[in-house]
Amino acid sequence: MCVPGGQAAIALIYFAFTGSDAHVLLPESAYGPNGELANHLLARFGVKTELYDPLIGGGITKLIRTNTRLIWCESPCSVTMEVQDVPAITAAARHAGVTTALDNTYAAGVLLDAFAHGADDVTMQALTKYVGGHSDLLLGSVTVRDEAHYRALADAHSLLGMSVSPDDCSFALRGLQTLAVRLRQLEENTLAVAGWLREQPEIGAVLHPAFPDCPGHDTWARDFTGSASVFSFVFEPSIQPDAIVRLFDELALFPVGYSWGGVTSLAMPYFNLQRRYHFHNGKVVRFNIGKEKAEDLIADLERGFVALQ
Ligand SMILES: *Cc1c(COP(=O)(O)O)cnc(C)c1O
Repeated sequence: MCVPGGQAAIALIYFAFTGSDAHVLLPESAYGPNGELANHLLARFGVKTELYDPLIGGGITKLIRTNTRLIWCESPCSVTMEVQDVPAITAAARHAGVTTALDNTYAAGVLLDAFAHGADDVTMQALTKYVGGHSDLLLGSVTVRDEAHYRALADAHSLLGMSVSPDDCSFALRGLQTLAVRLRQLEENTLAVAGWLREQPEIGAVLHPAFPDCPGHDTWARDFTGSASVFSFVFEPSIQPDAIVRLFDELALFPVGYSWGGVTSLAMPYFNLQRRYHFHNGKVVRFNIGKEKAEDLIADLERGFVALQ
C-alpha cells in the first residue's frame, strides 16, 4: 500500500503491530526519525524501544522478551551502513512468533529481493528516494505477502487517513520506468567516487557495502545484487572539523542535503557521530552520488582535498 512518505510507512507499521507495553527492537543505526518516533511519540502510548547491535544476527534471540511485538531491520543501516544479516534475524523472530519489518529503501526494492532473502512479514520503502528519483516526490510503500499482515496494516491505513494522491502515484509509476537504468548508472558513478576516496590518506574507512571496510560487507555480497548511491566515509582522527568545513566550501558539485536517491550529488557531514557498536566518535561524511560525470565529481573532490590540507 502507498503512504505519504517513508516516515509515514514507518509510522503505519508501528500503529499496526504495536500497542501499550509492546517491546520493539530497533537497530542502533536505523533511520534517525524511526527511533525518534518510537522514543518521543510512541513512548507516550507505552511502546518501549530497545536499540540493538545491527550486526547481532541470530544473537537477537537473547533480546526477545515475552512482550516483544516488532523487530525492525534496515540494511544497510543509515550513515554507518552496517549490512544486517536479515535472514538470521527473521529466523529468530519467526521462532519466537515476533513480526519483523524491513526498511528496504537503500535497495529500492530491487538490489535486495527482500522476501526471497529472509524478510518474512513486512517491508517498506521511502519511494521518495529511488522510485521518485528526482528529489521532487514524497511517497512511501508498505509491502506484505500474507493476509493477516495485510489486514492489520489496511485497517490502520484507513483509520489514520494515510491515503495518497493519484498524481503522486503517477510520479512513482513514471519513476519505475527508468529505475533500472538510473540504479545502474548511479552504482557505477558511486563506485568510482568511493574508490577514489579510498586512496586518500585523510580517509580512514569508506563505508560502502561493496568494500570490505563496510561492516557486514560479506552479508551484502551474499544477499544483494548490487550497490546504490549512498555511502559514508570516516576521516582520520587528525583531520579537524574546520578543515572539513573548508573542504565543503570548496566543493561545487556537492551541495549539503539530506534526502538522497535523486540525480544530483549531495554531502552531509557528521562531526561527532556517536554509536555504541562498531563505531566510535567519528568525523563522518555521507555522500549521495548523482548522475553527474564521475570524472567531474572526482576533479571537484581533488580541489576540495587540497583545501582540506
Ligand atoms: C528517507 C528515508 C526514510 C523516510 O522517507 P521520507 O519519504 O523522507 O519520509 C525512511 N527510511 C530510510 C532508510 C530513509 O532513508
